[in-house]
Amino acid sequence: MQNERIEMFGVEIDALRMPTAVDRLMCWLHGEASTEARFVVTPNVDHTVLLQTSAPLRDAYQDASLVLADGWPVVLASRLFGKPLPERVTGSDLIPALFQAASSAAPLKTFLLGAAPGVAQRAAVNVHRQFPNVQIVGTYSPPLGFENDPEENRQILERIAEAQPQLLVIGLGAPKQEIWIHQHRQEVAAKVAVCAGATIDFLAGEKSRAPRWMQRTGLEWLYRIGTDPQRLAKRYAKDAIVFPRLLWNEWTKPGLRSPDFSK
Ligand code: UDP
Repeated sequence: MQNERIEMFGVEIDALRMPTAVDRLMCWLHGEASTEARFVVTPNVDHTVLLQTSAPLRDAYQDASLVLADGWPVVLASRLFGKPLPERVTGSDLIPALFQAASSAAPLKTFLLGAAPGVAQRAAVNVHRQFPNVQIVGTYSPPLGFENDPEENRQILERIAEAQPQLLVIGLGAPKQEIWIHQHRQEVAAKVAVCAGATIDFLAGEKSRAPRWMQRTGLEWLYRIGTDPQRLAKRYAKDAIVFPRLLWNEWTKPGLRSPDFSK
C-alpha cells in the first residue's frame, strides 16, 4: 500500500486524508504484529524547526511508518510549493478518529503513556464513557528525566508488555516522544504508536482544544499560547523567526514550482 509522499523541509510527508490514515492504521492495529512497532509522527511548524538541529529527530522521522501533517502552515506551504497536501491530520484528531473506528467485534486495546500524574487515568475514564469499544489497558506518567534512566525505561516497557495494547498513545511532547519511540520501537509491545503531544490532556479535559473555527483558519497556535503563555510564547517566538527562513530555503531550491491551492 504505497501512497504519495511529498518532500519538504528535509522530511517526507504522507499526502493522506484522515479517513485513509485511519483505514491504514486500523489494518496495522488488527493485523499481524511485525518485528517492531510501527509509529506515526505529525509534523507542525515546531517540528520543522527542531528537525534542522536534531539528528535523533530526523532519524525518527526517517523510520516513521506514517508522517501526517499536523500544522496548518505545513499544509499551506505544501500548496505554495505546488505539491499540495490534501488536509491537516492532527494527532489530537487522529486518536479520537481511531477510537471511533473501533467496533464491538474489533475492540481497540490502548495504552496511554505521558501527561502529568493522574491525567491519563482521567482520560481513560472519559474514553471508556465516550468510546465503549476502546479498552484502556494501561496508563503511565513517567517522571521527569525518565528518558535518561535505563531502569525507568525498562519499567515502562515492562508495563506496556504486561498490558499488551494494540495502540500506544505517546504524549511526551516533541521531540522526546518521537526520539523515545524510535529508540525503543523494537522493544515496545504494541502494534502501532502515535506520537500525539497534548492529546492525553485533551482526552482528560485537562486542556481544551481551540474552537473549530480557529483550527480551520490556522489560528490554533494563538489559542494555545493563550492557555499556556509561559511555555509556548518562547517556542512560538523562535518558530516565528526560523520558519520563514525554512520557507525561503524551500522556495529557492532549484526546480520549477507553481502554487496549487486546488485541494
Ligand atoms: N510530557 C510528559 N513528560 C515529559 C514532557 C512532557 O508527560 O517529560 C507531557 C506534558 O505533560 C503534556 C505533553 O507531554 O501532556 C506535551 O504536550 P505539548 O502540548 O507540549 O505537545 P507538543 O506540542 O510538544 O507536541
